[in-house]
Amino acid sequence: MVESSVLGFPRIGAFRELKKNTEAYWAGKIGADQLLAVGKEIREKNWKLQKEAGVDIIPSNDFSFYDQVLDLSVLFNVIPERYTKFDLPQLDVLFAMGRGLQRKATETTKAVDVTALEMVKWFDSNYHYVRPTFSHSTEFKLNGQKPVDEYLEAKALGIETRPVLVGPVSYLYLGKPDKDSLDLKPISLLEKILPVYTEILKKLAEAGAKEVQIDEPTLVLDLPEEVQAAFKTAYETLAKAEGLPKLILTTYFGDVRPNLSAIKGLPVAGFHFDFVRCPEQLDDALALISDKQTLSVGIVDGRNIWKNDYAQSIEFVKKAIEKLGADNVVVSTSSSLLHTPVDLENEKKLDAEIKNWFSFATQKLAEVVTIAKAVSGEDVSAALEANAAAIKSRKESDLTNDEAVKARLAKIDKSLSTRKSPFPERLAQQKAKYNLPLFPTTTIGSFPQTKDIRINRNKFVKGEITAEQYEQFINSEIEKVVRFQEEVGLDVLVHGEPERNDMVQYFGEQLKGYAFTTNGWVQSYGSRYVRPPIIVGDVSRPKAMSVKESVYAQSLTKKPMKGMLTGPVTCLRWSFPRNDVSQKVQSLQLSLALRDEVNDLEAAGVTVIQVDEPAIREGLPLRAGKERSDYLEWAAESFRVATSGVRDDTQIHSHFCYSDLDPNHIKALDADVVSIEFSKKDDPKYIQEFSNYPNHIGLGLFDIHSPRIPSKEEFVARIGEIMKVYPADKFWVNPDCGLKTRGWEETRASLTNMVEAAKVFREKY
Ligand code: GLN
Ligand code: ZN
Repeated sequence: MVESSVLGFPRIGAFRELKKNTEAYWAGKIGADQLLAVGKEIREKNWKLQKEAGVDIIPSNDFSFYDQVLDLSVLFNVIPERYTKFDLPQLDVLFAMGRGLQRKATETTKAVDVTALEMVKWFDSNYHYVRPTFSHSTEFKLNGQKPVDEYLEAKALGIETRPVLVGPVSYLYLGKPDKDSLDLKPISLLEKILPVYTEILKKLAEAGAKEVQIDEPTLVLDLPEEVQAAFKTAYETLAKAEGLPKLILTTYFGDVRPNLSAIKGLPVAGFHFDFVRCPEQLDDALALISDKQTLSVGIVDGRNIWKNDYAQSIEFVKKAIEKLGADNVVVSTSSSLLHTPVDLENEKKLDAEIKNWFSFATQKLAEVVTIAKAVSGEDVSAALEANAAAIKSRKESDLTNDEAVKARLAKIDKSLSTRKSPFPERLAQQKAKYNLPLFPTTTIGSFPQTKDIRINRNKFVKGEITAEQYEQFINSEIEKVVRFQEEVGLDVLVHGEPERNDMVQYFGEQLKGYAFTTNGWVQSYGSRYVRPPIIVGDVSRPKAMSVKESVYAQSLTKKPMKGMLTGPVTCLRWSFPRNDVSQKVQSLQLSLALRDEVNDLEAAGVTVIQVDEPAIREGLPLRAGKERSDYLEWAAESFRVATSGVRDDTQIHSHFCYSDLDPNHIKALDADVVSIEFSKKDDPKYIQEFSNYPNHIGLGLFDIHSPRIPSKEEFVARIGEIMKVYPADKFWVNPDCGLKTRGWEETRASLTNMVEAAKVFREKY
């Protein structure tokens, strides 16, 4: 019998229960006990759902209140000292590390003021993990036993699970040294961390766990030699320890082949590969498996929402069975299902034809089970027939194909993707036109999305207020934001994006070729979830999408107003993309739609235009090589197609966030001004790298994921650091990203301090 397995299930709850309760806890509206109970309920539901679906291998410890990597840092005591000195309960330490904490002293508690750890993209996904931060004084030891507790919790429900842990090599390699230990290479801590891995694994075995899924996703990256070598050290050491569960070394999101020699012959019970992302690695994977090992075949997509093509998958899994035998093959999701929405059944508004093409996490449970049954010889013919019909309907549907879009795409050439003059000439014209001071201040676009905004948007969606009433409300919000920025003294203003639920969804809803969910939430980080729209067919823009709001905002002020758009690559990356045409084609289709919008904004008098590309870095193929260089080329081309229809004196901005951006990767976009998330970057060498960036740049000065307010002195110190290596005449002053998740109070205070700091430097230079 071939078994079925799932590598992880979404933990946000079918109706965002985790978000609602976590935020209520942060706001002091519910206690820790209540939040913990909600977590327990979600776990129970998830396990039962999987059990009922017939999944053989069900994960545990895939739940987290914030992030599974952060959980591991807390479990292993990788907690920088700045978080431990306030005597906070462990749950609050975890949240402080994840999002920072600033709290006034009370009669019984000390004042707390601590920034969050750095948060980075989880490989090429839109999930973010909290980066483990090591210092010379890090002392590994177990703080509690979360994986064991959750294993036992499932067991008490009568459900046997397979605990999940991020493996030692990936855990270390995904981390970084703390500011006080910049010379420390995390991987050098391997020998020190293995004892705590041994200890927690032993505890799991004692609790009854027979097998553990040990995630080593870094195996799909280009790894330095010492990291490759670390796998042997790590897994041979663990194999020598007595009384540990079996380990399934799990990789996902890509091609393991370049690192095969690092894992060949490792004494583990089996391997998991992602064959959705890289089916080409099957032969090498098969050759790697010894007769005592199993191969977990990741064939049901953990990253996208398209229905599995059963006929194809069954044929694929059969190849593995032929070589290894049915008992050594497991049918699995390609990665954790964390990256997919919970349940398609909760979508009541989707067109029935389109809905039949999709499969969300809950539906994917049935998919692994059905494929496992089919290859085990069970009769699942009804399911196979229904599946074949759905696959055929999608392929042949008119909703997917638009000839006019295809024709326009074929005409893209160099003239469509080049600004009229090179940057120095544009700069001269822009200087004359806008006459900005040195250290110009601006924000990234959004202002606090208050409850009032959400209530009014909901009312409008439900038809409880008219379009005119809604427009009036949005206009009053825009006016508030404009007046606020004038008061604070910012130089280049924004309208605040109150009309946008989400920066991709907002545009997606106005583009042809997109479909939407009402409840398809996916965790992005902590309590922030997104609802990615779905690209189902060729994309085009029926009419202007953002001009009205920007024109209104500009009419309220003499200061330059930035029109605000989401770039083609980000629209693509933060949607569920098609899997039947290339990403390049989808990106260029989006760029043509956006080009029309950019040109319309300019024609309407909005001549500073920011086209955000926060997702450009996460889209970078994980390995160096042709796929990566091709990506960089089409990503930049898409941006330029969108933005180069304008005059020289129109100033094009772009914005990037969340990740380790390489300045070389964004040069080809040729934006006049870029703003980048930077407040968590402490390495002076990295700051230095940006000083070669030819155009103008704003290195983000404060973390917008945290409610913490930096003081004026802190801003001055930070800008001072940057000025040691950065030319003052190219530098812009701005936060890391948009302010939509922040409250007004902290926004006012932070921006005021930021503007005051800019003034200090204007006087100096
Ligand atoms: N303009 C967007 C905002 O400010 C950018 C968001 C992002 O980069 N994630 O919200
Ligand atoms: Zn951003």
